[in-house]
Amino acid sequence: MADKRDYYEVLGVDKSADDATLKKAYRKLAKKYHPDVNPGDKEAEAKFKEATEAYTILSDPEKRKQYDQFGHAAFENGGGGAGGGFGGFDFNGADMGDIFGDIFGDLFGGGSRSRRANNGPMKGANLRARVNITFEEAVFGCEKELEIVLKDECTTCHGTGAKPGTSPVTCPKCHGEGQVVYTQQSMFGMVRNVQTCPDCHGSGKIIKDKCTSCRGTGYTSSRKKIQVSVPAGIDNGQSIRIREKGEPGTNGGPRGDLLVEVNVARHPIFQRQDMNIFSTAPLTYAQAALGGTVRINTVDGEVEYEVKPGTQTDTRIRLKGKGVPSLRNKNIRGDHYVTFVVQVPTNLNEEAKEALRKFDEACGNRPKSKDSDDFEKPEKKKKSFMDKLKETFED
Ligand SMILES: [Zn+2]
Ligand SMILES: [Zn+2]
Repeated sequence: MADKRDYYEVLGVDKSADDATLKKAYRKLAKKYHPDVNPGDKEAEAKFKEATEAYTILSDPEKRKQYDQFGHAAFENGGGGAGGGFGGFDFNGADMGDIFGDIFGDLFGGGSRSRRANNGPMKGANLRARVNITFEEAVFGCEKELEIVLKDECTTCHGTGAKPGTSPVTCPKCHGEGQVVYTQQSMFGMVRNVQTCPDCHGSGKIIKDKCTSCRGTGYTSSRKKIQVSVPAGIDNGQSIRIREKGEPGTNGGPRGDLLVEVNVARHPIFQRQDMNIFSTAPLTYAQAALGGTVRINTVDGEVEYEVKPGTQTDTRIRLKGKGVPSLRNKNIRGDHYVTFVVQVPTNLNEEAKEALRKFDEACGNRPKSKDSDDFEKPEKKKKSFMDKLKETFED
């Protein structure tokens, strides 16, 4: 076909692209144009086919070599397989099962794992739980007790699920393989598809007489108390892994893990960013202007800080080592940053008002006057706009 696009161009990669780059490029396109994502969209389907064809050829070292040498012509007339698939490309020959398992297994959250069902020892699934702690508990670490429902091997049937005296039999559908192979007609031609056996769910065994204690599951469930050591420095959303407190393994495999997600409560005054803590502290007018000792709340309790005279609002200071410990080494701590906010006094009594006026006068900010309502003075009102502007600039 004369109007076929270059395979490298289709995938948007360089001629020298390595396998990982090819795969990445194809995954991106496949995810975008997959027919399951774009039902009925002919253009997407064509794009998907084009990308799949390009990837199938370029991911095969032998075919890639041929393509690099002869271009599309390498697959058009040769080999006598010209009829199948599309554009002379024969999909029947390619092991689509492998490609799809590889690419789509994790792409669509499908079972690249279930494809590999086996009867050997397998680790159990992980369990998830959540623990709520305070801001301070996250900073300094704590011990928490969790109650979770844990499965254990059934003591009556020892995990086989079969009534004592009987045993599970080999699954007739998959002959104990745990998986079945389907051949399916698809838009690419015949596709080999491997699936977990629907009869035995991958175990390869069928239980005829079920154990009555566990109803054939092989497990019993019970509530268990688990001690969780929350390390100092943990942050909201992080998880603690407790080994082998998850679901039991199969065929002698180890238990899965318990993953405990930590939920840290918001603190009324402290905020946290990584290892640093942030807060604000109020300063009175006098403290800001004159300086002096203030008391500041930290996670270690109150500390004294010497404020410099003339401290402006929004001034930020650092209390070194008063932050959050490092998760790896609790002796290394972040810092605590405090932003001072100068409080403008409200609800002043007459005495305080008078003192402030005096203060302003002493600073030269007010024209000397016995009358406090100098803004209401008639001569002020008479001033023109230009005069006022001049005054502003003279200041
Ligand atoms: Zn049982
Ligand atoms: Zn089976």
